[in-house]
Amino acid sequence: MKKQIEVKQKKEVYYCDICGKQLSKHRKCEICGRDVCQECSIFFDWDILKPDAFEGDYPSVMCVECWDKGKKYRDKILELREECEKKEEELISEWKNNINNPV
Ligand SMILES: [Zn+2]
Ligand SMILES: [Zn+2]
Repeated sequence: MKKQIEVKQKKEVYYCDICGKQLSKHRKCEICGRDVCQECSIFFDWDILKPDAFEGDYPSVMCVECWDKGKKYRDKILELREECEKKEEELISEWKNNINNPV
C-alpha cells in the first residue's frame, strides 16, 4: 500500500545579526560571536590582519563593526609585530657578530 503523508521538517536557519538577511552560509564573527552575512563581514587572516586577505582555505571571519571598532587594536598589533621583527633581526646580527668576533 502506498500513501502520501506530510512530513514536517525542522530546519535551522541563520540570519545576519546586523542586517537581518537570511544566511546561505553560516558565518560567525570571531570577536563578538554574532552570525553575519557576507556583506556584513570580512575574511581575513590573523597573520596578515588585512581585510579580505588570507592564506589557506579557512580564513577567519570578523563582522564589519568589530573590524572598524578594532582599528586601534589592529594597528597596535601590527606595530608590535614590526617592532618584534626588528628586535629579532638585531639579536640575530648581534649573535653572528659575537660568534665572529668573540670578546
Ligand atoms: Zn548582514
Ligand atoms: Zn563582530
